[in-house]
Amino acid sequence: MPRIGMQAIKGTITLALPLIALAICAELFFPAAFARLATLYLIYVTAVVGMQIYSGNSGIISFGHAGFMALGAYGSSLLTIQPAIISTSLPNLPGWLAAIAGGQPLFVGMAGALLVVAIVAALFGLPLARLGGAAASIATLGFLVIVHVTLVASTDITRGSQTFFGVPRGVSAFPALIVAVTAVALARTYRGTRGGLSLRAAREDEIAALACGVNVVRQRFVAWVLSGLVSASAGVLLAHFLGAFSPKDFYFNLTFLLMSMLILGGISTVSGAVGGTALIVIMVDLLRRLEGGAEVFGLQLPEVFGLTDIGVGLVILAVMYRLRDGLFGLREVDERLFPEPVVRANAPRQTPVSDDALISIEGVGRRFSGLVALEDVSFIVRPGVVTGLIGPNGAGKSTLINAISGVVPPSSGRVLLNGTDTALVPVNAVPTLGLGRTFQNIRLFRNLTVLENVTVAADAVARPGEDSRAAAMAALAMVGMQDDASRPANSLPYGAQRRLEIARALALRPSFLLLDEPAAGMNPAETDALIGVLRQIRADHQIGLLVVEHDLKLIMRLCDHIVVLNKGQMIAEGTPDEIRANPAVIEAYIGKRRAAA
Ligand code: ADP
Ligand code: MG
Repeated sequence: MPRIGMQAIKGTITLALPLIALAICAELFFPAAFARLATLYLIYVTAVVGMQIYSGNSGIISFGHAGFMALGAYGSSLLTIQPAIISTSLPNLPGWLAAIAGGQPLFVGMAGALLVVAIVAALFGLPLARLGGAAASIATLGFLVIVHVTLVASTDITRGSQTFFGVPRGVSAFPALIVAVTAVALARTYRGTRGGLSLRAAREDEIAALACGVNVVRQRFVAWVLSGLVSASAGVLLAHFLGAFSPKDFYFNLTFLLMSMLILGGISTVSGAVGGTALIVIMVDLLRRLEGGAEVFGLQLPEVFGLTDIGVGLVILAVMYRLRDGLFGLREVDERLFPEPVVRANAPRQTPVSDDALISIEGVGRRFSGLVALEDVSFIVRPGVVTGLIGPNGAGKSTLINAISGVVPPSSGRVLLNGTDTALVPVNAVPTLGLGRTFQNIRLFRNLTVLENVTVAADAVARPGEDSRAAAMAALAMVGMQDDASRPANSLPYGAQRRLEIARALALRPSFLLLDEPAAGMNPAETDALIGVLRQIRADHQIGLLVVEHDLKLIMRLCDHIVVLNKGQMIAEGTPDEIRANPAVIEAYIGKRRAAA
């Protein structure tokens, strides 16, 4: 269920108020030229907010959204074009299209265009959603080119590269305002939903998001289609604002303009999209006047070709140089001005892990192109027991953790988690089967808050109607971090970052927790606190722990059972006392000769 929180409502109102004021001034007080500029601004806001839904949440820069605008513009224009013009301007219109084209009211044009865009976005989104980072960006560029070429080639329908004209002009500031505010509300709401939050988490760290049960591919798909629809509505508005246009109006120049708007304000926030668009619209308007050779204080300036594009480019460069996250940064304006109070949790998780829960590691082996990282490892991890996994560097401990959690499937053998082979389910499904984990190199969602980090995991296992934020607070309480809930994760000291990673794993309500060197880099006080937390987790909830650690003293204090790996082989298993006395372990740790002495 989407979480339509107070924060999204506050955010929408905060951003909508200036837009409403602008539209009222445009309709009632501004001279025509200013009113046109205000309307254009509202149209661009819709387009850029659309881009923000995909790019801002997924972190993937999109070149494709001008393509959505083009589809919206042509789709709606075909449906609404003045019927009298069709026979002269589009004489070869295919019969099926001629039957529905022309004379429809604007809202039918909009609905029809959005239907087409939804289908196109979904078809392209299926493969696109599997891509991340630069590969996805390039694919969106491909989308733009495909749309453009198709429009130019479909001469019978679009008049090709010639101007498409006769589109009814009904868009002034108020209609544009309605669509823009709807776009802002959608984007601001989406950001806080389970889907939006989990996509932002994947933007920060895809592997960690998978370990929190996030279906990254599905969330990218949803964001792409939603953002395409919003940007396409801007295309519809633009078509009915201009009345005439051609495919090149929706190509690289527009793409560059929209990207500048988004990046200048800051891609991560809806506030950034709205604010950045305002700045660029004003700047472009001023530069256009200068470009045409304006008169400033009685001085006639020469015409400067390309001044607008150069100016926008330079401003982007300057802002990126000083502020990587754009003028508005990583948090919404409303999140800074009216933050939602954090409600402390007092009810921790209810049911302890059942006694029949079990991780059964059965003859697990793993090769990396010739290198044997693990060979025939078998042991069992039980609920309520702390199992230590020790061994020298390169012994295969992290590889085993990855094999259990499904990130690096075993080359031989298998891992059964409560009877399910973890290699046979999607990586993001393993966490929800009851397995939480942390990483040797901390993997937090660095630019999200502490509470958001944990909520991503809580969302993945939330029961219908359950408040995941409350569940997340309960998980934070288990590691003593409730007071840090609203801090950004990257502002935490090192030891707290490690504990946050544990809280995030606990929010999955796991039966088992795999911790890869949880005390690495901690000072003695932090290590003591960690041991206390881990003991408490076992005592209160019967969670089974598998702890990889270099620090033998910590392992001996904490563990009930210890497994020793050396060069991928399991060389010993037993209680701390048995392990301490085992000659093979002593040899692996301190070498043959010293052991003999
Ligand atoms: P540990 O955590 O016990 O220090 P690892 O499990 O990280 O050891 O590594 C075991 C061995 O496997 C090492 O020799 C390491 O270089 C190798 N290894 C681990 N992951 C990969 C990988 N993705 N590709 C190639 N070799 C790997
Ligand atoms: Mg390791």
